[in-house]
Amino acid sequence: MRGLAAALGVPEARMASLLAELGEEAVASDIPLDFEVAQLLALEHGVSLTLEPLADATRPAGASVRAEDVVRPPVVAILGHVDHGKTSILDALRASRIAAGEAGGITQRIGAFVAGGITWVDTPGHALFSSMRARGAALTDVALLVVAADQGAQEQTAEAIRHIRAASVPFIVALNKMDKPGADAHAARLSLLQHGVVAEELGGDVPTVELSAVRRTGLDSLCELLQLQAELLELRARPLAPVSGTVLEADVSQKRGVVATVLLQQGTLRAGDIIVAGISWGRVRTMLGDDGRTREMATAGVPVQLSGLRDVPRSGDRLVVVASERRARQLIEARVRRELDEAGDARRMARRARTAARTASIGAAGGSALSDQPLAVPVAVKAESSGGLEAIVSALATLPARRAQPLVVLAAVGALTEADVEHAGTCGAALIGYNVAASARVKAAAAAAGVRISCSPIIYTLLDEAREILRAALPPDRTEQRVGRAELLDTFVITANAALQGKGAPKRPVVGGMRVVEGSVKSSALVRVLRAGECVHEAEVLSLRHFKEDVSEVTKGSECGVILEGGWAGWQPGDEVLCLTYMETEASLE
Ligand code: GDP
Repeated sequence: MRGLAAALGVPEARMASLLAELGEEAVASDIPLDFEVAQLLALEHGVSLTLEPLADATRPAGASVRAEDVVRPPVVAILGHVDHGKTSILDALRASRIAAGEAGGITQRIGAFVAGGITWVDTPGHALFSSMRARGAALTDVALLVVAADQGAQEQTAEAIRHIRAASVPFIVALNKMDKPGADAHAARLSLLQHGVVAEELGGDVPTVELSAVRRTGLDSLCELLQLQAELLELRARPLAPVSGTVLEADVSQKRGVVATVLLQQGTLRAGDIIVAGISWGRVRTMLGDDGRTREMATAGVPVQLSGLRDVPRSGDRLVVVASERRARQLIEARVRRELDEAGDARRMARRARTAARTASIGAAGGSALSDQPLAVPVAVKAESSGGLEAIVSALATLPARRAQPLVVLAAVGALTEADVEHAGTCGAALIGYNVAASARVKAAAAAAGVRISCSPIIYTLLDEAREILRAALPPDRTEQRVGRAELLDTFVITANAALQGKGAPKRPVVGGMRVVEGSVKSSALVRVLRAGECVHEAEVLSLRHFKEDVSEVTKGSECGVILEGGWAGWQPGDEVLCLTYMETEASLE
């Protein structure tokens, strides 16, 4: 165990507690672990172990390619600005594959497909990159950035570049729509310069390829270029290693139950294997290839859609094979416990955010409630499929975040349940359902718990709803309005009458005697006292008198006596007294 802990860079104590989570007896740190247990511990840290004969230990270091290693196809994801042709390129590749007889005339949309010796990931690039990165999954070997040659780099091109850079994935640029009259590859390359992407043609190191998805020209060059990139990466897979894969997308199919498209990084998956993906487990029942045909086994880099899992896993969840159902349950229990701990943290964060919001609205007297930190507004999200869930969660993350941003306290696949309402209620969260409906019971439970529910099959409608949820969570904007100004002439002390004492004034309150020089002084207003231009005190008016009478307003030219809340006695002749009110307006998100 000591060796494994050191190799993974994990403290031994953490290893011991992970072992305990797996239901394994604590072992002395120098006793070798059962290989499967070691493998599970390593996979939890994103490392795949292989069992090698002891004699291999004598092999010279650096001999990283083993005899059983095989070359695997590169996995490519497509990113780029909307309408620049991502879908069209994928469609053209699919069609070219049918034309080349690779697919035997049929293709099955399973979220990824193989064409031109490359595995193309079909799910939207942005969502994929963020969710995969969130789970530490390095799935894509090379990214393809699509830029329409008649438009050049646009806003989402820049966003895509940021995603690619953050994932440290090599990438090439496809200059699409070269058939259009306005297409200008050179101008398009120049437009990428401002985002730090320097094409090879301009002396940089980013390869570009010109193509037209509609005319299906340049696709071969595109595949060749990607193959070339892949060769540099020396992509190898070990079919004999323990299985380690990633869930691309998952859904519930009426006929086959839970189906998940997975891509293996190592090993060979067979029907009948017991698998764990995230917190879902099951026995592989059937596997379908992207040609719609049944597969007996799946190897690295070749996507399959499998059935047999009991629950819907999330995109980006890692998949492993375990020896027994017992082990699968132990692994899931350990993960659920960890997720619950993390959810507990999220709940605590949400509580803190709510307290902060209250404090901000109370302390906002000096102006608007703007603080440096955006307000975290808890939301719970359910969707009909894990692809949909990723889409709505990443869409939520794009909402303007200067003043408020959604804090997702629950993200799960499936119908809205009363348990979801309860969960949302405890977190003070609104419930968002993407492509799922709320039953009458759920609606009633939500109404009783004061939980706001928004359901729609349209992401934009939900984003509008979410914007409204964020906006409603912000305290109202307060703008200060000056209603009048007065000059302090003198102060005098009176004996508080019964009415004043009832309001909590001191026994002998100090009255500021002043002349109104502008607008009016009102009994319902706030007073700010300035001395040499500096604010020396601020308080609400407790009593306003004109001669001996209590009045609600004294206008310009008249004199009045003011007692402030708290009975402030610091008045000095010559003080400038501003009389202020606040206008409250609905907060805006921007
Ligand atoms: P996506 O949003 O990036 O997936 O873009 P789409 O693939 O949906 O393409 C957006 C629009 O551009 C569609 O109307 C396509 O027909 C068109 N388009 C895509 N590729 C080309 C191309 O190579 N040439 C021309 N002329 N139009 C294209």
